[in-house]
Amino acid sequence: MARILDDYLAQELGELHQRKLFRQLRILDGQQRPEAIFDGRAVVNLASNNYLGLSTRPELILAAVRATEEYGVGSGAVRSIAGTMRIHLDLEEKIARFKNAEACVVFQSGFTANAGTVSAILGKGDVIISDELNHASIIDGCRLSRAEIRVFPHKDVVALEKTLQGVQGLPGKKLVITDGVFSMDGDIAPLPQIIELAEKYGAIMMIDDAHSSGVLGKNGRGTVDHFGVHGHVDVQVGTLSKAVGSLGGYVCGSRALIDYLYHRARPFLFSTSHPPAVAASCLAAFELLEHEPGLIDRLWENTRFFKDGLVRQGFNTGASETPITPIIVGRGDLAMRFSDELFQEGVFAPGIGYPTVPEAKSRIRTIVTATHSREQLQYALDCLERVGRRLGII
Ligand code: PMP
Repeated sequence: MARILDDYLAQELGELHQRKLFRQLRILDGQQRPEAIFDGRAVVNLASNNYLGLSTRPELILAAVRATEEYGVGSGAVRSIAGTMRIHLDLEEKIARFKNAEACVVFQSGFTANAGTVSAILGKGDVIISDELNHASIIDGCRLSRAEIRVFPHKDVVALEKTLQGVQGLPGKKLVITDGVFSMDGDIAPLPQIIELAEKYGAIMMIDDAHSSGVLGKNGRGTVDHFGVHGHVDVQVGTLSKAVGSLGGYVCGSRALIDYLYHRARPFLFSTSHPPAVAASCLAAFELLEHEPGLIDRLWENTRFFKDGLVRQGFNTGASETPITPIIVGRGDLAMRFSDELFQEGVFAPGIGYPTVPEAKSRIRTIVTATHSREQLQYALDCLERVGRRLGII
């Protein structure tokens, strides 16, 4: 056995411990619900992306069970060989219609959708212009593409225009890419202004709607619908792992884009497709999104209630405009202590520090769902206030 690996790991892990960055995984027993059992403790769950509670909805469970019984537990191949099942195409057609797009391709995750798409459509000699707070899967896709990467300050459209001017004379394609909703801050990209600039300078426009799918726009159609800018975004990524309640990522765009991804997106070509149960549960989820818009109304009512409470208590919730609400406390060790003490009192909101966010903006992150009751949210607010005062945060 290679001692060299053991030595390396011991040193790296030791450093994480020393910097108090080593985290134990919290273990969920039972279902991902607004009140759930983590590490053996019943807590109000402000940590999951299960925005609409769909991961435990009977309609999705039934669809998954039926598809498993009918088609088996696995697809048995990558999409491009023998792993394209009828149900995969049914889902893609449904998503394309839902998103008002010409075509759609589903990937194994939002991560592989971003990384696989960016690295497929851009290459050496191209330029990617990316918001500094874009998700890791975009950053990895940019690196894999071997295109030149220019990062612009968060949501700063003036800086974006300067960057676009700076690369105007360079040969190669230009891509402007942004998250629709930013995962650590819960703020929304200024999409109309970004699109205007991409169009002005002839850049391809791509958006990652992971946290907007099922959350923003009519029936949860995402930020493109929210801002009424249909037809102005070349590549729309979304996830099936958050509000949709299951697993996966999708890309919507032109038929040509999707045909091209079939041939060039490496996760599509080289990794096995979803089990039929996943596709079936996603199909059932889109049915619910279309026919039960009250779900999204409840998500936003709960979001408003919870956010108003936090602001009234004096917490710094940053620039959040969505169900993701950070509580920014400053130092990383304070954020971790805040999270740990809340957990002891029955509220699960993870602490987030460097390198995910800058050290001085360490925080806990809360996510409200449609299925939280007012009592659960009030309980969480009361705990937050008590622990926040005890730690001198408010
Ligand atoms: N993009 C963003 C902005 C995300 O927050 C995430 C999930 N953390 C992803 C993409 C990846 O999605 P998935 O979990 O489906 O891989």
